[in-house]
Amino acid sequence: MNYIGFFSDQGQAIWWPTNGLALALMVRSDRSRWATILVGILLGSWVSAIHYGWPISSRIVNFIANSVGPMLGALVLPRFRRLEDWLQEPHLVFRYVAFVLLLAPVLSATIYATNTHFFLPGLNFWTVLQTRADSDMLGYALFTPFVLVLTSRETYQRVKPAEIPLLAVLLALVGGTTYLVFWQTAYALTFVLISVALLVTLRLGFTASVLAVNLLAVLATVATMHGHGPFMLGQGVMLAHRILLLQAFLALTMVTVFSVSVMQIERKVFQERLQLAYEEMERRATTDVLTGVANRRLFDETLKSEWSRALRRGDSLALLMLDVDHFKLYNDRFGHPAGDACLHRIAQTILAIGHRSSDLLARYGGEEFSFLLPTTKLEDAARIAENIRLRIERMHKDPENAGDHPISISVGCAALTPTLDLTPELLIAAADQALYQAKRNGRNRIEVTETRSMLA
Ligand code: GH3
Ligand code: MG
Ligand code: MG
Repeated sequence: MNYIGFFSDQGQAIWWPTNGLALALMVRSDRSRWATILVGILLGSWVSAIHYGWPISSRIVNFIANSVGPMLGALVLPRFRRLEDWLQEPHLVFRYVAFVLLLAPVLSATIYATNTHFFLPGLNFWTVLQTRADSDMLGYALFTPFVLVLTSRETYQRVKPAEIPLLAVLLALVGGTTYLVFWQTAYALTFVLISVALLVTLRLGFTASVLAVNLLAVLATVATMHGHGPFMLGQGVMLAHRILLLQAFLALTMVTVFSVSVMQIERKVFQERLQLAYEEMERRATTDVLTGVANRRLFDETLKSEWSRALRRGDSLALLMLDVDHFKLYNDRFGHPAGDACLHRIAQTILAIGHRSSDLLARYGGEEFSFLLPTTKLEDAARIAENIRLRIERMHKDPENAGDHPISISVGCAALTPTLDLTPELLIAAADQALYQAKRNGRNRIEVTETRSMLA
C-alpha cells in the first residue's frame, strides 16, 4: 500500500485539517485577530515548504494557497457566536457548500498545483490539484464544524447528563457499524452509515452528529488506507479514484447531516416562535388593557375553576369587590385621562401588595375590581381588604404620586365553602351586597356578608 496513515507516499493528505482549523479560528474571532491567524498559516506554510526544499518565492505562493481558502470562507460567512444562530440560517448551508466546500478548495488547490508544477516537477498537475482540493474540502467539511462544536461553550452547557449514555451508545453504534462496513471488502455497504449518522442527528442534534461523522471519517480513512472496505471493491480501479470515492462519501455524509440539522433547528425555532405568539395572544386575551390586571373574562373562568377546586377539596373561597369612591367626581374634576391613569395606579398598587400566586385581581368593570382569594376564610379576606383599603387611602402620599388627589375605595367581602347546591353567582352577590353596605355606611370602608345569612 502506497498510503501511510492519512498521507500518500507523495505527501498528499486524504483529508487536511489545518485549513479547516484556520477557517474555524477565523470565523470565531474578530477581524482584528485575523492577522495573527494568517501569521500562523504563514509559519506553517513556511515550515512545510522547507520540507520540500522550495525557494522563498514558492514558499510565499504556498502561504497564499493556504490562506486564500480560510480567508474566503471567513469573508462569506458571518462571525460565529452561537451554533444555534449559525444553523438557524438555511442560506448559510448553501454558502458553506458553494464557497467553503467547493470554491475555496479549488482556488487553493489551483495555486498549490501551479506551485508544485514549477517547483516539484514530476508530479501530475491535475492529480495534485484534485487530491489537494479534495483533502482541503474534507478539512472544511469535517474539521471546521468539529472545532466550532468543541470550542463552543454552549456545547458543554447543553449536555444533559441523561443524554450522555445515549451519546455513548450511539457513538459506539457508529464506530461498530463503520468497523463492520469498512473492515470487509465483499459488499458495498456504505449507505448503511448514512442512516446511522442520521439517527445520531435526529436523536441528539448537530453537535453529536459532528462527533459521529468525524469518528466515522477517521475509521473509514484508516480502513481504506489499509486496503479494506467498500471502496476497495472492483478490479483495476486506480487507488486515487478509490480515495476520491471515500472523500466524496465523507463530504456528502457531512453535508446531509448538516442539512438535516438545519431543518431540525428551523422546526424548533418555528415551534418556539409559535409557542411565544400563542402565549402572547393568550395574555392579551386575558389582560385588561387600561390597568394591566386580569380582565373580566379571565376572572369568570378562574372563578369557575376555583369554585370546582374548592368544592372538591372542601376549601373556603373568598371574594372582594372593590369600588372607587366618588370616582365620577374625580373624572369631572381632573378629566377622563387622569381618571384612567388613577385606575391604573389603583390596580398596580393593589397588585404590589404581596399576595399568593393563586389570588386573582381583575377589573370587573368600570372603576370596580374583583379580587378572588382561593383557600381563604372570611376573617382573612376582611384583613386583606382592610389592608388594601388603607393602602389606597395613603396612595396619594407616595413620593411618585406627589400632587395627587386623595382617593378611597369601598370593599365588600364574602367567603363560602362551595357545596353542590350552590353556584359561584351566590359568592358574587354576597360580595356585591357587602360593597353596597360599605357605600351606604359612608364609603372608604370594608363590609362583610355572612353567606349563611343569605342562605337562610
Ligand atoms: P361611588 O362609587 O362612590 O358611589 O361613586 P362613583 O362616582 O364612583 O360611582 P358611579 O358608579 O356613579 O360612577 C362611576 C364612574 O366611574 C363613572 C365613570 O365616569 C367612571 N369610570 C368608569 N370606568 C372608567 C374608566 O375606564 N375610566 C375613567 N376615567 N373613568 C371611568
Ligand atoms: Mg364608584
Ligand atoms: Mg362603580
